[in-house]
Amino acid sequence: MTTTRRGLLGAGLVAAGAAVTPSLAPAQGHDHDHDHQDLPSDPALRVKALESLLVAKGLVDPAALDALVDAYENKIGPQNGARVIARAWVDPEYKKRLLDNGPAAIGELGYSGSQGAEIRVVENTRKVHNLVVCTLCSCYPWVVLGLPPVWYKSAPYRSRAVIDPRGVLRELGLELPPDVEVRVWDSTAEQRYLVLPERPSGTEQLSEDVLTKLVTRDCMIGVAKVVAQKSAGGV
Ligand code: FE
Repeated sequence: MTTTRRGLLGAGLVAAGAAVTPSLAPAQGHDHDHDHQDLPSDPALRVKALESLLVAKGLVDPAALDALVDAYENKIGPQNGARVIARAWVDPEYKKRLLDNGPAAIGELGYSGSQGAEIRVVENTRKVHNLVVCTLCSCYPWVVLGLPPVWYKSAPYRSRAVIDPRGVLRELGLELPPDVEVRVWDSTAEQRYLVLPERPSGTEQLSEDVLTKLVTRDCMIGVAKVVAQKSAGGV
């Protein structure tokens, strides 16, 4: 059986109501073998409450909300950014346009939207490594990377990425040589950033399509480097 996002949240609300009703609290010696379902997170419950109110007041169309969620979950994702990066690697003129005017160059590949209007592309080199964060909340170049990962929105990453970027990168498995300058870019609602990673050596003969599969989400945030053999994606 398929559980929809709306159904899951609805079930969660019912469960949440039950959880705070004293008469329905689990009895002591709760001794049976069925599984109990975890409740959705507080933010998920708040979103559902807001959504229910907006729908009840006729201010939003539930189908439109579902279409938006589907777009960002399934159609817009790091595969878009990976295409941009691979094109820049194989086409020097495109790379120049991308660095000069990110939104216009990204738009050349068909990716555009309100989020894409403010993207600046920053290039990693042998001597410079760029790292992207949003210290205030979760600003992110959605049009090329899709939804931000949970850790990107976490308080520890948001604070420590600016205080100790090398330490954060080390914990994430990326040890940078001391002579590499680390530049941290703090995103805002008006200005977002996309890292143009270094093209790994040994990939000179690879096609643009194959190169696209090497570029992960984390590489475009700046917490990883592109590895020649790595498969596409990012979790
Ligand atoms: Fe933000």
